[in-house]
Amino acid sequence: MSADLPDPIDLPAHGQDGARILDTMRALRDDDARWHDGRVFSLVFHPGDETAAFVREAYNLYFSENALNPSAFPSLRRMENEVVSMTASLLGNPHAVGNLTSGGTESILMAVKAAREWAREHRPKVREPEIVLPVTAHPAFDKAAHYFGVKLVHVPVERDTYRADVAATEKAVTRRTAMIVGSAPQYPQGVVDPITALAAIAENHGVLMHVDACVGGYMLPFVRELGYDVPPFDLSVPGVTSMSVDLHKYGYAAKGCSAILYNEPSLRKRQYFAYAGWPGGIYVSPTMTGTRPGGAIAAAWAVLHRLGREGYVDLARQVMHTVERLRDGIADIDGVRIAGSPHMSVMCIVGDGLDIYRVGDEMTARGWHLDRQQDPAGLHLTVNGAHLESVDAFLADLRASVQASQPELRDRLTRRARGLVLGAAGRVVPAPVLSRVTRAASRMMKIGEGDGVPKRSAAMYGMMASLPNKGDLAEVVIDALDAMTRRRPGDRRLLDEVDP
Ligand SMILES: *Cc1c(COP(=O)(O)O)cnc(C)c1O
Repeated sequence: MSADLPDPIDLPAHGQDGARILDTMRALRDDDARWHDGRVFSLVFHPGDETAAFVREAYNLYFSENALNPSAFPSLRRMENEVVSMTASLLGNPHAVGNLTSGGTESILMAVKAAREWAREHRPKVREPEIVLPVTAHPAFDKAAHYFGVKLVHVPVERDTYRADVAATEKAVTRRTAMIVGSAPQYPQGVVDPITALAAIAENHGVLMHVDACVGGYMLPFVRELGYDVPPFDLSVPGVTSMSVDLHKYGYAAKGCSAILYNEPSLRKRQYFAYAGWPGGIYVSPTMTGTRPGGAIAAAWAVLHRLGREGYVDLARQVMHTVERLRDGIADIDGVRIAGSPHMSVMCIVGDGLDIYRVGDEMTARGWHLDRQQDPAGLHLTVNGAHLESVDAFLADLRASVQASQPELRDRLTRRARGLVLGAAGRVVPAPVLSRVTRAASRMMKIGEGDGVPKRSAAMYGMMASLPNKGDLAEVVIDALDAMTRRRPGDRRLLDEVDP
């Protein structure tokens, strides 16, 4: 067998000791991002240990049930309908219809699929319908376009506010347009797009308007209630036709739950799929997936009732209190600032005269998990309840990291990174992949390993940024992902390798 293949592992012939399996799993988590200590600024949303334990209990009650067939488990069907109704009421149209999906991406896929079917009917001569959206919209739209044969027309955002450019949007709308998209808020800088103006353009041109409130749907209404300025963004805005809202973010539900909502029931029907010719029976399914975990729906239903509006406002108050402290603290540190004026608890730290990726490396070395962004270069912060306790330590380490990143300390490769454009890898690829990306990138750039492949991400971003074009970069990242999703040569079975 070739030396670069891993040793195969078989299904164990006999069942292994349960305690040993669970202990191994607990030990394995030591290497994971420490979200519970408030050191992770994406991926996890924590409502406090008590609520989290309650959600887990609710999930487990429906651990085995499958919401694929709504007539087999009427309890799940009714819970799903209630979650949709409560979400629709919260977001401006109590009579909106919708479904629960596995996450924001699937909700967005459904909105794009519905828009394509709508275009087939209303724009029959258009071969490839178009969706006009700001560059800051979530890549789930790009994924949807890739899957469904729809063309995306990206429009710029305003330079200082990072909000969708209304005039550019208006210009981009043609007779091929099926839908306009705005976000509330967008993920990169956490600002709400000018939804009222975008939706007015959609209405004037007789096209659809989707609001991506995946991260904001269960936060903005409560932030507004706390007295913060939140521009109109929901289903009540004239012209808005659909909205995506994640329950598994600030809804604090278990992972695997989002809502897709439509003002018009006839539009929702266009997301559905039915096949009547299968020998296994007549098949109909509302969303992308077949089997749908009952636990995710049950947990969402349970947490909405457990917290109630008051509970969500309280959690939002705690989060916004943490946001204020972060804002004030960051304002006191020369060399970094928050980009734009974020409307809630999602934001981006950018450098003022220093390399922010270098600051990111220093923060990583101090045990913080911060995603890197591009255009402009920045570090992402999504604040949640777990950060209440860590905010002072964060600010102290940020100050130290900024100090350690002053210009005279920069190395040669890092200098090259400054001002250059970073590819898609920066947002989606975690640190371990980056070293593979770098190796691949250095091969492409004909830099030998002997030249010292940089280990720190600031230097890697610099190298990736100097690749000829972003298409190459997408290939490199896909190769890296491909390599990551296999066992490596020398890998032992986890159960044998890890000593709990
Ligand atoms: C998280 C997010 C999504 C995608 O949601 P997933 O649950 O990760 O699939 C889409 N849009 C925005 C603005 C988001 O923050």
